[in-house]
Amino acid sequence: MTIRVRLMIAFLGVVLATNLLLSLVTIRRVGQVLIEEVQMRVLLDLSAAREVYENHVQGLAQFLEAASLDDSIAAGLQQDDPQQLAQEVRQIYQMDRADMISLLDRTGRVVYRPAGPDQRDGSMADNEVVQRVLATGQPAMGTLLVSREDLVRQGINPALLARWGPDPAKEEAPEDLLEHGMVVAAGVPIRDEQGGLVGVLYGANLLNGRYRIVDTIRDLVFQNQTYEGKDIGTATIFQGDVRISTNVKTEQGRRAIGTRVSPEVARVVLEAGETYAQRAFVVSDWYLSAYEPIRNPDSRIIGALYVGLLEAPYVHRQRLIVVVFLAMVLIAATATIALLWLITKQVLKPIGRVIEMSRRVIGGDLGARVGIRRRGEMGALLRAIDEMADAVAQREEKLKAATRRQIGQSEKLASIGRLAAGVAHEVNNPLTGVLTFAHLLRDKHEASEQDRRDLDLIIRETTRVRDIVRNLLDFARESPSRRQPLDVNGPARQMLTLLRSQKEYRAIRIEEDLAGDLPAVEADQNQLQQVLLNLALNACEAMPDGGVLKIRTARRGGEVIIQISDTGVGIPREHLETIFDPFFTTKPTGKGTGLGLSVSYGIVQQHGGDIEVVSEPGAGSTFTVVLPAMGAPSGEATQAPTGAAGKEPSDE
Ligand code: ADP
Ligand code: MG
Repeated sequence: MTIRVRLMIAFLGVVLATNLLLSLVTIRRVGQVLIEEVQMRVLLDLSAAREVYENHVQGLAQFLEAASLDDSIAAGLQQDDPQQLAQEVRQIYQMDRADMISLLDRTGRVVYRPAGPDQRDGSMADNEVVQRVLATGQPAMGTLLVSREDLVRQGINPALLARWGPDPAKEEAPEDLLEHGMVVAAGVPIRDEQGGLVGVLYGANLLNGRYRIVDTIRDLVFQNQTYEGKDIGTATIFQGDVRISTNVKTEQGRRAIGTRVSPEVARVVLEAGETYAQRAFVVSDWYLSAYEPIRNPDSRIIGALYVGLLEAPYVHRQRLIVVVFLAMVLIAATATIALLWLITKQVLKPIGRVIEMSRRVIGGDLGARVGIRRRGEMGALLRAIDEMADAVAQREEKLKAATRRQIGQSEKLASIGRLAAGVAHEVNNPLTGVLTFAHLLRDKHEASEQDRRDLDLIIRETTRVRDIVRNLLDFARESPSRRQPLDVNGPARQMLTLLRSQKEYRAIRIEEDLAGDLPAVEADQNQLQQVLLNLALNACEAMPDGGVLKIRTARRGGEVIIQISDTGVGIPREHLETIFDPFFTTKPTGKGTGLGLSVSYGIVQQHGGDIEVVSEPGAGSTFTVVLPAMGAPSGEATQAPTGAAGKEPSDE
């Protein structure tokens, strides 16, 4: 899996998880708040509905009160003038504000009824409203249950009685609904000029099958709002547990008259007399509904008032919120992915370039660079990689040049070596002859003193030539590394002989200080000789105007050291670190290869030894070759006795 995919999965996980969690919490919370708000609203609506209901009752009372102010009614009652009274009351009745009107005397007996079969003789003293007016002398009002016969007696319009009644579609008709009706009633006192109570004007409106109150509630409280063709708000008046006035519709579109409330609501509202607010399935839809009891003036519960809010619009709103939130989550996730895609593309682009660049470098294109400039850690990384490539390219270039030089040099050296070996070989035999015959001549009796001296010179010089030739032969011979116990003074002397034969270093005085009792070292003679020659040549080259070259051998604890010192230019401090590096040279091209010290160091290391340098710029340098002595455990630190070094007898 790539970094990008991993990053994206991780980010997406985080975004989705947090967003979903957030949405879930918010949606639940919003849902709760919404429900609370709706329940609150239903309760408020219920009290508004109650207000409308009370208003209706009060309106009736106010109407009667206004009518009762007419002095002629009181006068008619006092004078017992039926004609006059009938005229007055009929006028009131004709204003059509009450279904039933009765004028009663001080005792509650019926004096006049504008409608109805039995106009006189009856008594309404047992009517709760009338009782109250008679008892207090004040207007009274309320909701009452009235028997059918009483309604007829009070002069109700028969058409109203016919309209009320249970839904004909329903088989079973509630018994009590047929026996009683529910009315809002009001009674106002009639007073004489002195304020004495002379009668009661009583009026009542039937609620069964009448829809003024519930429709007013719907219009005022719910402002007639609809949702998908249904009224959002509905109101119902119950007589007992039966719907007698409602704007809840049945599936056939009729008002749901005659149906009953659920037993639970009946228990809470009708029996316990409490307000009930709950989600309820009414007729065909879910409603958020609230009920409260309707009481008669004696505080007996005779029915209930109900308002219901259609739940669908709220559910719809809640769904909308859910949808909006889910959409937000989706958008956030998509945006995250897109953003991350771009960011990772931007961030990871250099990695691709680095890989591509590395492949090109491996393939040999040393000029390849990442070539992207960035800030921060990525920038540092890219710069470092490019710098590394620069360094590699430079080094490669140097190496190539040096190798070219070296190859040329070694080819030259090799051919010179072969040539020298050939010449030396050719010269060697005649030299041996010359020497032999010179000795023979010298040992002759007849040779004069002068001849002997001359011959000695010849022998000495020839011997010197032979030594040089031998050394040359030894040096040029390509022999595999062959280690053997060795006295380091041997190669040291051979090196010196070779050096002395070089005419260009005539200005250099050579001093030797070779210890006599050195332990042997295990070494390859030729290689050791090459090391010493390299060091000695460096020393000579450091003294172009002459100086002293000193070679010293000594024992140092468990080691044998060979020291080559010069009084030359010395080595600057900053070069001490690098002089052993291959190809490090301060000499002009063609003169130095920068290989001498590195090759020497390699050889000495292979012998388990080391090369130490001490140098003072302007004063000279000392190179010390350290080799482990044979038979001495390494690391043994016995001090070499000073002044023990002595001249070793010549092996000639
Ligand atoms: P080369 O002799 O071809 O330059 P070497 O490896 O032998 O290469 O030496 C490396 C460098 O070390 C020399 O170029 C020189 O600057 C420095 N060096 C070595 N020996 C001496 C010395 N005895 N005195 C001063 N500089 C020295
Ligand atoms: Mg050198």
